[in-house]
Amino acid sequence: MSMQDYIDGAESALLHTYNRYQIVFDHADGVYMYDIEGKKYLDFYAGIAVFALGHHYKDYDDALKEQIDKIIHTSNYYYNVPAIEAAMKLKKVSGMDRVFYTNSGAEAVEGALKAARKYAFLRDGHTDHEIIAMNHSFHGRTFGALSVTGNAHYREAFEPMIGNIRFADLNDIDSVKAQLSEKTCAIILETIQGEGGIIPAEEGFLKEIRRICDEKDILLILDEIQCGMGRSGYMFAWQEYGVKPDIMTCAKALGCGVPVGAFLMTEKVAAHSLVAGDHGTTYGGNPLACCAINKVLDLYEENHIIEHVNQVAKHLTEVLDDFAARYSFVTCRRGKGLMQGLVFDRPVAGVIGRALEKGLVLINAGTNIIRFIPPLVITDENIDEMAAILEECMKEEASAAR
Ligand SMILES: *Cc1c(COP(=O)(O)O)cnc(C)c1O
Repeated sequence: MSMQDYIDGAESALLHTYNRYQIVFDHADGVYMYDIEGKKYLDFYAGIAVFALGHHYKDYDDALKEQIDKIIHTSNYYYNVPAIEAAMKLKKVSGMDRVFYTNSGAEAVEGALKAARKYAFLRDGHTDHEIIAMNHSFHGRTFGALSVTGNAHYREAFEPMIGNIRFADLNDIDSVKAQLSEKTCAIILETIQGEGGIIPAEEGFLKEIRRICDEKDILLILDEIQCGMGRSGYMFAWQEYGVKPDIMTCAKALGCGVPVGAFLMTEKVAAHSLVAGDHGTTYGGNPLACCAINKVLDLYEENHIIEHVNQVAKHLTEVLDDFAARYSFVTCRRGKGLMQGLVFDRPVAGVIGRALEKGLVLINAGTNIIRFIPPLVITDENIDEMAAILEECMKEEASAAR
């Protein structure tokens, strides 16, 4: 079948919830992907910040194959070795105390919200608690996660949401204070906003949020689903400022391709929130998924992934700053580590489309921002290769605009 046949098949069989690029990917290796016609692409989006180790990291593949031959699923009625080992390692790298495994990012957010409400319920017995979330945030597509997603466009057709959610502006502490009430039980935010446009929470803002939470016994939930797992140059982005959350969500790169998420909490929250019967999942924490987490965390350590991110991020930052300086339609670069955005004064779809034609996979964040979230194993040479292709696309954009 030709590429077009497959695309026609997809458009007749799949629910049309995405306007997909007209490419059918077939296989991948390291930081390169290949479509079914054999065309090669440099991967600068990592399956939306998922493939941190690149495609087909041999030790990772081998570990998964071995696990498939052992046992794939047990349910949470029993213990399994990979889930226990991975939880120990997650505790160590995060400094959090307890882990609940999920199958996706949205599910991790759901669990975090339930834990926060339960914590407040046990404290005062009320059932009208409020949660403060940020405008332009993104936390996922299920009802709880959607309810705290600060983008009316995503929510509108699906109202009513879970209720008692108030929105404030990231990096505007007064806007947060204005939403506080006696009923506030949690504040949720992405440490670095991803879909909303690669906007890091500022140190002063985070610290003040932490202070308010401590003072009023409000739980701080940090969503590290996109910015976590080393992408920011720290294992978790909040570690840069030492502003520890009470609950943290994680997914995307956590399994490096195997669908898995988790929410983690401190002992204080764990001791006063969810208990047996309160929350559950059939698949979550299954041996195959946890084998992936386990191996990912081992490989991060063995291969000094965080150090590597900090090294190559310097080069990526220089390259992107240079683009921002030379092209008048680029407003700025922003981001941290290997989570960067190039902000345009216009839609970026044209540049992204041209890059794809030239064998470079980039994605947007919003309409005006190109998002750079490559595999964390990317090298300086790969960055130069990306820059050469992007340069051509930018020149074409400049002349197309004239
Ligand atoms: C992707 C993402 C989610 C949702 O994760 P899914 O696995 O798609 O449900 C939630 N929060 C953030 C910050 C994300 O980037």
